[in-house]
Amino acid sequence: MRRTIRIRLLYLILLAIAGGCAVPGSASAMVLGPILIGDSKPIPPHFESWEDREANASLSDVRQLPDDRWVPVPGGSETYGITPSAYWLRVALVNTTTQRQDLIAELAYSQLDRVTFYAFADDTLLDTFRTGDTLPFYPRRVDHPNMLYRLTLPPGQSRTLYIRVQTAGSMILPFRLWHEPDFYTAAASEQKLHFFYYGALSVIILLNLAVFLILRERLYLYYSLAISGYLLFFASIKGYSFQLLYPAHPEIHARALLMSMPILALFSVLFCRSLLRIPAHSPRLDVAIRAMIAFEVVNFVASLTLSYNGAILLSSLSALVFFSLLFVAGPITWAAGVRAGAFFTVAWTPLTVGVLATAGRALGFFPENFFTENAMQIGSGMEAFILTLALADRLYREREEKIRAQAESLAQARARNEAQNRLTRAMTHDLVTGLPNRNLFETMVNEQLKQNPSGRYMVGVARMTRLDEVNRTLGLSRSDRLLQTLARNMLQLAESLPYLHRRAGDDGRQQQVYQLSRDSFGLLVDANRVNDGFESLNRVLRALAEPVWLDQLAIELHPKFGAAAYPEHGDTAAQLIRNAHVGMEITPHGPFETGLYSEAFDIYSESRLTLLADLRGALQTDQVALHYQPKQCARTGRVTGIEALIRWHHPQRGDVPPVEFIPLAEDTGVITQVTRWALARGLGDLAALSRDWPALTLAVNLSARDLLADDLAPWLQGQLAHHGIAPARLVLELTETAAMDHPEKSLSALAALSALGLRVSIDDFGSGYSSLSYLKQLPASELKLDSGLIEGIEHRDDVRVIVRTAINMAHDLGYTVVAEGVETGETAKQLVALECDTIQGFWFCRPLPLAELRDWLAARS
Ligand code: C2E
Ligand code: CA
Ligand code: CA
Repeated sequence: MRRTIRIRLLYLILLAIAGGCAVPGSASAMVLGPILIGDSKPIPPHFESWEDREANASLSDVRQLPDDRWVPVPGGSETYGITPSAYWLRVALVNTTTQRQDLIAELAYSQLDRVTFYAFADDTLLDTFRTGDTLPFYPRRVDHPNMLYRLTLPPGQSRTLYIRVQTAGSMILPFRLWHEPDFYTAAASEQKLHFFYYGALSVIILLNLAVFLILRERLYLYYSLAISGYLLFFASIKGYSFQLLYPAHPEIHARALLMSMPILALFSVLFCRSLLRIPAHSPRLDVAIRAMIAFEVVNFVASLTLSYNGAILLSSLSALVFFSLLFVAGPITWAAGVRAGAFFTVAWTPLTVGVLATAGRALGFFPENFFTENAMQIGSGMEAFILTLALADRLYREREEKIRAQAESLAQARARNEAQNRLTRAMTHDLVTGLPNRNLFETMVNEQLKQNPSGRYMVGVARMTRLDEVNRTLGLSRSDRLLQTLARNMLQLAESLPYLHRRAGDDGRQQQVYQLSRDSFGLLVDANRVNDGFESLNRVLRALAEPVWLDQLAIELHPKFGAAAYPEHGDTAAQLIRNAHVGMEITPHGPFETGLYSEAFDIYSESRLTLLADLRGALQTDQVALHYQPKQCARTGRVTGIEALIRWHHPQRGDVPPVEFIPLAEDTGVITQVTRWALARGLGDLAALSRDWPALTLAVNLSARDLLADDLAPWLQGQLAHHGIAPARLVLELTETAAMDHPEKSLSALAALSALGLRVSIDDFGSGYSSLSYLKQLPASELKLDSGLIEGIEHRDDVRVIVRTAINMAHDLGYTVVAEGVETGETAKQLVALECDTIQGFWFCRPLPLAELRDWLAARS
């Protein structure tokens, strides 16, 4: 048996809103006379109806019904809800004019299953016509989806129409009577509107499909499919798709209509979910949304397989939930700050109004008019339009955001680059005067000597002996300005010395005068090019000895000058600089003259040699000791490790600071003994501390020279095993420049050490000229910022920028960062703010002998 499946839109809404109750027509004793057809238009419609509950009455049964069984419907339109009954309509017509009247009787609802028109003149059946949407669309007497019957009424004559309607859906009977030309005019203008609507929806569908194909963003596909659902729904409910697409297949018509609802609901919900970013912004709502999606999938399958009644019930339920859910989704996400939520709320409103208006019409609250009849279409059209705007808005915003993000990352990269340049500059230039610093001077001199080993050079240094005093009396900022003036003077004077060694810096500026420390300056003279017996140089030095003017004050700086010659007085920059300083102290011809180094006057030279001999002996006795300085985790304040620092108490000289004998030991190779002594002693002490502080790490300072010994790694492995210390608890501190002397060899030695599980720390970062690219290759896990780098961090923005850059860069390379030489709480605070990991310095704790360290640790824990 062919099943008639019909969706009744109004029934659906009735069910959804009024809980499924149909509204029966109310019977009254009123008697309606025949409809008088005159020239007046439009013709006011009315009819009488009779409910055939068994749906089996014949035409003659109906004609014999007494008049009081007929219920008058004076408004000409009635809705009876879902009913198995057949309904009979009786309409009497009288032509009161002298012209023939061509009329069309209409039941303006395309979904009625079976409609039969009977036309009587008195008792004669003139004509019978069957129509309905369970039949193939054609033939019809009028090519239109509604139930139409044409009749001609000669002048003065009357007719009675009996119309039998039976339908499986909602019995909606909007009866109208038209003069034939008026019907066509009205139908044409209504069609125009409908097709405008369908056209608009089609454009929206194609547009979003195109956007989807380009962007591959599913959101646009969902929207396109949701609107397709709407289009299918309205074209089906109005009967246009039946008429135009598959007129021979009423069964397709029925299923298409049934399918359209889950399609539009499913994709509307999917669209809404992704447009409003519901999963991210409202997880609870998302649970409901996902349940809805599952439900609509079931509904879709049901629409293809289920009986009419089952499918329609499901769809009604779906409509109810669907509307309420999407009705709240907009405001909820809007409140959660999703911009599209506003669009969605605004878009959903006209549709809701449309639904309410349609339902109100069906329930009789609102009059039958163009708006109430088409409210759903108008509402959905506006909805589609507003949501299209929302999508355009979103597209626009996303593009904007992308462009902004690109610009931002570009700016960031630029800032990072600038900061790194500043960092490099800070490590190679004096912050106050901008002159290249000692690192660059040494690099430059060494390069020059290597390039031209057979040349003759002089390293000249000048020290402003009164600068300390000036600092104290003038204050730091004025003495900074003084230094800047001095630097300018020196650069100007240097211009007149053609034999000065010059080289172009990375910043394009000529480097000829270098600042070796705050109060001393250096230069390199190509002695082979001097042809005036240093006459011009002495002139310049005399000029330098003149007072410097600052704020109307003439300030005497009392410079001293010293020099050392290559190759006579040394063959490395460090030696030449040192010896030039020695020469300065032995100025033979009084002040303002240059003192040339001479070994005879080098009081240090001899004492250095004896000192070295003493050091060897000291390592055997207990003249040397290790002190330990704790390192503190910047975040938690906990002690993470200790650094071993050597102390030498010389029986005659008293305490000799490491800076005096360590470089000496490095130059002569004695350092390897120092290092092994420190490592063995340090590990022994660590083992002793381990009982109470098992996680403590020990840092020991290593020299470049130590890396050249092949047996270091196996020796260390033996030591660790001997003291029962896990390799990860030993940190080897190594200056970056140390590793750069023999880069290949050092790298492989470090690799061997870190393969043992030891940790490597880059010491004194920022005090030498660092090659960042080389640093990246070191198998290190920690980087120690030199105390010089962080000097002034409490009150200088530029220092802060530099330190931040250094810390960020170190973090980028995967190092933890230690700041050393932290002397005040303010400095520590700044470092913590810049995300430095570890703090070391007098502020936290001075280096302590083992026993005191033990007490100190115990007091803290
Ligand atoms: P370093 O490795 O950079 O050690 C830090 C130095 O800064 C230590 O000086 C320490 O006492 C000092 N210090 C720590 N906190 C502060 C602070 O808040 N303010 C100031 N002004 N100084 C602070 P020390 O002990 O005189 O050692 C100097 C350098 O000698 C060390 O610098 C290291 O390079 C070297 N050294 C020390 N012991 C050894 C060792 O056993 N072996 C080797 N190869 N070198 C060592
Ligand atoms: Ca160190
Ligand atoms: Ca250091």
